[in-house]
Amino acid sequence: MSSEAPAGGIRKRTATEGRDLTRPQAPEPLPIPVYDNHTHLEFEDGFDQPEPVESLDLAESVGVRGVVQVGTDLETSRWSAALAASDPRVLAAVALHPNEAPRLFAEGLLSSHLSEISRLAAQPRVRAVGETGLDFFRTGEDGRDAQIESFETHIEIAKANGIALQIHDRDAHDEVVATLLRVGAPERTVFHCFSGDERLARVCNEHGWYMSFAGTMTFKNAPALREALTVARPELVLCETDAPFLTPEPFRGRPNAPYLLPHTVRRMAETLGLPLDELCARLAENTERVYGLWDPETDEA
Ligand SMILES: [Zn+2]
Repeated sequence: MSSEAPAGGIRKRTATEGRDLTRPQAPEPLPIPVYDNHTHLEFEDGFDQPEPVESLDLAESVGVRGVVQVGTDLETSRWSAALAASDPRVLAAVALHPNEAPRLFAEGLLSSHLSEISRLAAQPRVRAVGETGLDFFRTGEDGRDAQIESFETHIEIAKANGIALQIHDRDAHDEVVATLLRVGAPERTVFHCFSGDERLARVCNEHGWYMSFAGTMTFKNAPALREALTVARPELVLCETDAPFLTPEPFRGRPNAPYLLPHTVRRMAETLGLPLDELCARLAENTERVYGLWDPETDEA
C-alpha cells in the first residue's frame, strides 16, 4: 500500500443556498473506535475542504478508525478503489448509482459500465458493491426498468465476488425487498442510510439484512427511524455518515464528514439505552463481519 492517495474534490456539492458552510468543531472522541460504513470523500462541500487523508486523520482522532468509501459512477468507483489501495483506513464500494442507470441505459452505456464495475469489484480492497438499489423519488416511472436491471446485475456482481451489497433505497422499500427475494440477496446485504420504519426493520431482521443508520436518525422529525433502531436485531446494526450529506444534529445542513459520526453514535446509544462503549464495540464488530478487516497487518498483530 505505497501508492499515492488520489486528490479529493472530483465532485462538488452544489446545494449551498441558505446553508452554513463552515465546518463544525470535532466532537469528543468515542471510547471505542468504530467505522463509517458509507462516505463520499471525493465530494467537496463547504469552506476549507480537507484532502481525503486529512479527513481520515481527523476522523481517527475522534474514534472513527476507518471508512467505506463509496462510488456512484465509473469515475468515483475507480477513485474509491484507488483510495482504498493507498490507505489502510479505507475500504471501497463500487457501483453505478440507481439514478445514473436510466441515463446510462438511454446512452447505450449501461452494460459496458457494469462490466467495468464487475472488474473493479474483484480488487482485494473493494469489499462491497454499492451504492446500488432503487430510487423512486428522483427517477420516474420511465426509468424504472433500467434501474431494476442495473440493481439486479449489481446483486449478481456482489455474489460472484463474495462481497457485501450496499443498497440505496429511496421511496422504494417494497420493490427493493421484492428484488432481493426474487434474485437472491448476497450473504451480507446492507441497507445504507436505512430509511424504513419498524415494519421494514422486522423484514431485515427476518432475512439477516444489515441496517446502517445515518445522521437522519438524529433529526427531530425521525421518530420512526429511532423506533426502527430499537426493533433491529443488535447484530445487524451499523452506522455511517453518507458525508457530505445528512449531517447529524446539532449541525444539520452544515458540511458532513466522517469525524462527525460520533454524534450519530451517541444518539443511537441514547435511543437504545445502552452504554456508549458497549454500542461502539458492537458496531465495530458488526462492521468487520460485513466487510472484513481494514488492516490485517495491524489487526492480527
Ligand atoms: Zn451515499
